[in-house]
Amino acid sequence: MKTNRNDSCPCDSGKKYKNCCEQKRFQSGDENRMTRWFVSAAVGLFLAVFVWGVIEFFATDHPEMEAYKCDNPSCGKIHYRPITDNN
Ligand SMILES: [Zn+2]
Ligand SMILES: [Zn+2]
Repeated sequence: MKTNRNDSCPCDSGKKYKNCCEQKRFQSGDENRMTRWFVSAAVGLFLAVFVWGVIEFFATDHPEMEAYKCDNPSCGKIHYRPITDNN
């Protein structure tokens, strides 16, 4: 059985269906669309910040380094130091 839009609403509000639950249905659809849009935007923003953070982490925590043999004879291990431009 199909509800006629000009009939009184089945929810017994006394309003016509087209002025009552039909509009609520559209409104809730808009809310769902807004919620989905907001969630996807938030997830996208989070992913963008996360990826940027990872890139930034590797860019800052691992600058160009070079391995060098320690000058200290009692050490003799390989250390890492930032590459400098002074020849
Ligand atoms: Zn209704
Ligand atoms: Zn050393």
